[in-house]
Amino acid sequence: MAAALQAARQAIEHEDVPIGAVVVHDGIVVGTGHNARELDRDPTAHAELIALREAAKTLGRWRLTDCALYVTLEPCAMCAGAAVLARIDLVVFATPDPKAGAVQSVAELLDLGALNHHPKWRVLRGSRRETARGMQDRPITEGGRSMKFNGVLIGTDDPGKLKAYYTKLFGKPGWEDGGYFGWQFGDAGVAFGAHDQVKGKNQQPGRVIWGLESSDVKGEFARLKAAGATVVREPYEMGGGWIATLSDPDNNYFQLMSPMPTPA
Ligand SMILES: [Zn+2]
Repeated sequence: MAAALQAARQAIEHEDVPIGAVVVHDGIVVGTGHNARELDRDPTAHAELIALREAAKTLGRWRLTDCALYVTLEPCAMCAGAAVLARIDLVVFATPDPKAGAVQSVAELLDLGALNHHPKWRVLRGSRRETARGMQDRPITEGGRSMKFNGVLIGTDDPGKLKAYYTKLFGKPGWEDGGYFGWQFGDAGVAFGAHDQVKGKNQQPGRVIWGLESSDVKGEFARLKAAGATVVREPYEMGGGWIATLSDPDNNYFQLMSPMPTPA
């Protein structure tokens, strides 16, 4: 379900209602989808359908027996129907959809005796469900004003070098996965990974700057400097707050800054 939630977050980027789905076979994710109705202007571009199609392609078969479909929101009639047609074994969803859910809310398609296949299903309880519900309730407003910064991904031709440098400053990476690693700071995070398009020193170090909010910019700056951080600019005052600029061995810049007031 964590993977489905991750997929749901991607839908936020194009102002689609954040719904994510994954198909799992033998403990491995074989298909991922997020709602792309607005992005693709396609009424059928639901997370589940996209994940089912990808799973069929990955496995090279349309019958998705021995597969489970995880989705953040109760599937609609179309998607529940697709799960039946795909012979999915198990459907797990995080949050019921009283308006359109076709598993338990407005219809019970998966339990329909007349159909020739009946996927088992269950509703998730606990924190993942709460997270999914929170995302569903988040208003998607015009112009992306409700969007929230969630992180930066930085490519490098030498991940080991950057990992050693940032571990010195921030401790061991909070997560590592498939050659990528990163640190979470509150709701946002920074991630690094190998990228064959990146060669040597960044020619325009100012083009990407990742920021860290701190109510004690000068204190954090002193700590990072002592830990071996490369200083670009000592803390200076700006707009009533403090900013300090640092860099890493690839010459990527990052800044410490006082919390900025969020525009209403
Ligand atoms: Zn659907």
